[in-house]
Amino acid sequence: MAKRGDKNHWLEGCCPCGTSRIALARMPRHRFLCHCTICQNVYPGDYADATITRADAVRLLTPETVTFGHYKANSPLERGVCTSCAHPVVAFMKMPAMPDLAFVPAAMLPKNRAQPRPTRHIFYGTRKADVIDDLPKTSGDLASMAVLLPDFLTALFRR
Ligand SMILES: [Zn+2]
Ligand SMILES: [Zn+2]
Repeated sequence: MAKRGDKNHWLEGCCPCGTSRIALARMPRHRFLCHCTICQNVYPGDYADATITRADAVRLLTPETVTFGHYKANSPLERGVCTSCAHPVVAFMKMPAMPDLAFVPAAMLPKNRAQPRPTRHIFYGTRKADVIDDLPKTSGDLASMAVLLPDFLTALFRR
């Protein structure tokens, strides 16, 4: 029986070019689509497709192939992209008095496991194109962060 935290049982995923690899303690549960202008620059396509998990549930297996940066002044989010294919690999968010969060692009998730489905669009007001689906769509910075907060908290306190 595998024990929680047993590194031999972490799930592995890689970027589209295969150079940058991560390991996850478990499959993230919360997945969202972000249309903010930073995600539009960092992600291929019109928006980010990403999941939320605790930072300590993610390990970067190839730190030498990932460049980290803050893409906006004073942003608590540090985004890492693959130095070979420029695809986002993982982003870490420092939280005051709480465990750090990690954002893992859906493209980085292990392919041999059932993946979570996207639950919502955020920052939809700055979308590049309309998306026709049944998911809730939230516009504006504050409202977008507010709807994501329950997912943050569940990810943080998930056991
Ligand atoms: Zn975004
Ligand atoms: Zn790559």
